[in-house]
Amino acid sequence: MNQSRLGCKQDLDINIIMGIMQEKKTIKGASIRYIKGVGPRRADLFGKIGIETVSDLFHYLPRRYEDRSRIVDIGELMVGQVQGTIGKVLKTDIFRARTGTCIVEAVLGSGNRKVSAVWYNQPFMKNIFEIGQMVAIYGKVELQRHLQISHPTFEILDNNKLENSLNMGRIVPIYSLTENLNQKYLRKIIKNVLDEYLSASVDLLPTRIRARRRLVDFKFAVQNIHFPCSYDNLEKAYKRLVFEEFFVLQAVMARRRGKKKKNGIRHEIDSKHLPDFEKLFPFEFTPAQKKCIDDVERDMAKDASMHRLLQGDVGSGKTVVAMRAAMISAVGGYQTAVMAPTEVLARQHYVSFSKIFMPLGINVRLLISGIEKKAKENIKKSIAEGATDIVIGTHSLFQEAVEYGKLGLIVIDEQHKFGVRQRKMMQGKSSRADLLVMTATPIPRSLSLTVFGDMDVSVLNEKPAERAPVATYVVDENKREDVYAFIREEIKKGRQAFIVYPRIRTKDITEARAAVEMFERLKKDEFKDKRLAIIHGRLRTDEKKKVMEDFRGKKYDILIATTVIEVGVDIPNVTVMVVEHAEQYGLAQLHQLRGRIGRGKHASYCILVSQDEDLSNERLSAIVETDDGFQIAQKDLDIRGPGEFLGTRQSGLPELKVGNVVKDFAIMEEAREEAFNLIKEDPELKDLRNLEIKNNIRERFNSR
Ligand code: ADP
Ligand code: MG
Repeated sequence: MNQSRLGCKQDLDINIIMGIMQEKKTIKGASIRYIKGVGPRRADLFGKIGIETVSDLFHYLPRRYEDRSRIVDIGELMVGQVQGTIGKVLKTDIFRARTGTCIVEAVLGSGNRKVSAVWYNQPFMKNIFEIGQMVAIYGKVELQRHLQISHPTFEILDNNKLENSLNMGRIVPIYSLTENLNQKYLRKIIKNVLDEYLSASVDLLPTRIRARRRLVDFKFAVQNIHFPCSYDNLEKAYKRLVFEEFFVLQAVMARRRGKKKKNGIRHEIDSKHLPDFEKLFPFEFTPAQKKCIDDVERDMAKDASMHRLLQGDVGSGKTVVAMRAAMISAVGGYQTAVMAPTEVLARQHYVSFSKIFMPLGINVRLLISGIEKKAKENIKKSIAEGATDIVIGTHSLFQEAVEYGKLGLIVIDEQHKFGVRQRKMMQGKSSRADLLVMTATPIPRSLSLTVFGDMDVSVLNEKPAERAPVATYVVDENKREDVYAFIREEIKKGRQAFIVYPRIRTKDITEARAAVEMFERLKKDEFKDKRLAIIHGRLRTDEKKKVMEDFRGKKYDILIATTVIEVGVDIPNVTVMVVEHAEQYGLAQLHQLRGRIGRGKHASYCILVSQDEDLSNERLSAIVETDDGFQIAQKDLDIRGPGEFLGTRQSGLPELKVGNVVKDFAIMEEAREEAFNLIKEDPELKDLRNLEIKNNIRERFNSR
């Protein structure tokens, strides 16, 4: 059946396409309120589930499907099975059970077999059926006095035939609903819309791509995603729609990348100097660092500007790569801006950059909001005049009215802490500057192609040697005394410890042991003979700075902290990290936290104290089992899904209606390849045959 739907259409004459396009624009965007059976009041209900136009309805995918295609004779019904059957209404009855429950019964018969359809406490069901009607019912078969199905799905058959039913005798779509919309009604409306509008819709995917990738056409896909004739067709329909969605998304990426490839800065690079550069450090670069430096150098030498994402687990040594890029920029007379997510981290970078660059006469400055006003003005002035070569800072780098004299390179560190918007704002400072984005959250490839699909990627996949591994344990709350005893032992050996508490939130401050409260207690009680300090987000910048410096200088044994220490902090003498309420953290965050220890030669220990045994087990055991950031990220992605993984909206994850970046990764790769090819052939999408793609991009991404 439905052979005609499968038939492949020829590419239409351009004029015809244009004609259809004009008409179609109105069709696709047509408000559903004008559809037969909808009207203004119901249109509002549809609005609640995000459906406003015909096109929205096309793409309102069933949540799942139910196979009601096999309808058996009443005689073939089997107790305990979920089945469908057809019979003639022999009688209907309403009566009260001894318990007082009102029961409606409709007895259906076929031949000399009978089955009852039964409803409890729905007296109105009595008036639904007429004697002699043919009715199909579907549900779990039970045996009471005789065979019955309670609260069956039912359908009164037109002309006694099942053929045209949307609810029975087929694979039936089950949609997500809202109050006052029901499945049967929604199915009917969708059917109406498909019948009326689908034939006029134009396929966005070029025929040659469809042929190459063996994709069904749009009409077939939409028809079968709603009312599949078989599971095989359903699969084809799904693949096609997912492909289309990713295809458009990747076309956007391809175009963005294409645009960036213009007007960059061609930095002069003499790679012979790399050994000299390496000599500035007390260690040798790892092969992975050299490889990434090589990637960066090649990018910077090109006319096109660099857009590179550098992924590397915590402690993998990303900073060195950034420094090399800054060096190249500075040597050519260009400025570098390094943006860090926190002031603590900005300061730390400032210290390490200064150490390397100042002796070479390359001027490094720090610009954070905590700086005194006059000093800040001075720094800004020196940036504008080009007297500062490298400026390190936080958001203030783009928030403050900073003019850059000759910006040649932007480095964004710990990108996962920023939103896409901030990246864009920073880039707004110069359209020509090279961009190096660094992240310690290893992003599985499926996601990076979606969110950073317009960037090139380098991976630092090995850590500098000489690091003792971190042993990780999950312990129960009541083991806390043992944990404290262990900390004391480590302190005796001259080591230091972090105890991390969840971020201060006003609401559940009693629930989560606030760092402040515990600091007071531990100081008086469990650790009264030890030196304790506290750091959290509410301290002033200079206070934070002092605490960190003193802790680094071993003036304290234990630092009580919130997650402000999550990024960047690098103090090799700390060998213990206790994370309280570990169950409250995401996997990636725990991994980040753990990355703060194990930075020296000593064996280190990460102790996760969990209050909650069941729920968090899967996550916490993933952390215990592996130290490989990519594995943890993949696990995290599997558990939480892409939206949560990236931290919601501002992450830049485009909203997907059909596809799933994890599950449908293989389809995405195909779509990406085709989209990049297409944009290579037709960068501006000027070809009329690609007009529909262009329109779609405009509609979905507001970009041209
Ligand atoms: P991250 O990738 O987490 O930003 P960093 O760049 O801060 O890592 O490096 C972490 C630590 O490792 C720093 O103390 C740095 O000096 C050191 N380091 C970096 N590269 C090497 C190397 N090749 N050999 C030894 N230590 C290194
Ligand atoms: Mg770093």
